[in-house]
Amino acid sequence: MVNQKTLADYCHQYLTVDKFDDYCPNGLQIQGKSDIKKIISGVSANQALIDRAIDEAADALFVHHGFFWKNEPPTLTGIKKNRIKALLDNNINLFAYHLPLDAHPTIGNNAQLATRFDIKNPVPIGDTLVWQGEINTTLANFSNTVKQALSRTPLVFGNDEKTLKRIAWCSGGAQTYIQHAININADCFLTGEVSEQIPAIALENNIAFISAGHHATERYGVQALCQHLAQEFNLDHHFIDIDNSV
Ligand SMILES: [Zn+2]
Repeated sequence: MVNQKTLADYCHQYLTVDKFDDYCPNGLQIQGKSDIKKIISGVSANQALIDRAIDEAADALFVHHGFFWKNEPPTLTGIKKNRIKALLDNNINLFAYHLPLDAHPTIGNNAQLATRFDIKNPVPIGDTLVWQGEINTTLANFSNTVKQALSRTPLVFGNDEKTLKRIAWCSGGAQTYIQHAININADCFLTGEVSEQIPAIALENNIAFISAGHHATERYGVQALCQHLAQEFNLDHHFIDIDNSV
């Protein structure tokens, strides 16, 4: 069991929240009960995930995508009212961590992808959110590794036989960051989403591109964070995947 404030303070330090200029508040977004024993993790704070957390009698829900994004209406109406009312009525704390959870050197989404894809020497590219590392395989083989690791068939652009040695990647909707991968002469750039103009940009820069799913590439950071918290504070934890093909 841990006190809500102790947990929030611990996460704030552990995820170095103050280092990030983010599009949403990172930390305790919705305040629930003071004492926390059972935590649930998930990717996005949608109604289906909140309903599951209520069914499981969770004390806290940890997500990568929470509420209060800079570009969203600031009013508590419609589905946002429904979601937040359900959390408040059930006294469930909502903790949300966005960029700090992408970037963390061990439990972050990008570090976790490196482990799952067997990428060697994973490091961030300068002070960007994009990472680079080494592999030695073909695009076809690597795409298959990605498929097995994420249980999802990726969209792949490039020649199957292309040899990949240097790879760059960034979880989520980071397709416009392909330029960071081009700048370091990467053989391949992997992210979650793809936009219409990306395949041509990739082709003309002789770089392979893999869209592996926004949701699929961001399942692992929040789980790893909560596994860490469960050990540190002796909590019950499990991850709930509300599947999403995007
Ligand atoms: Zn995301």
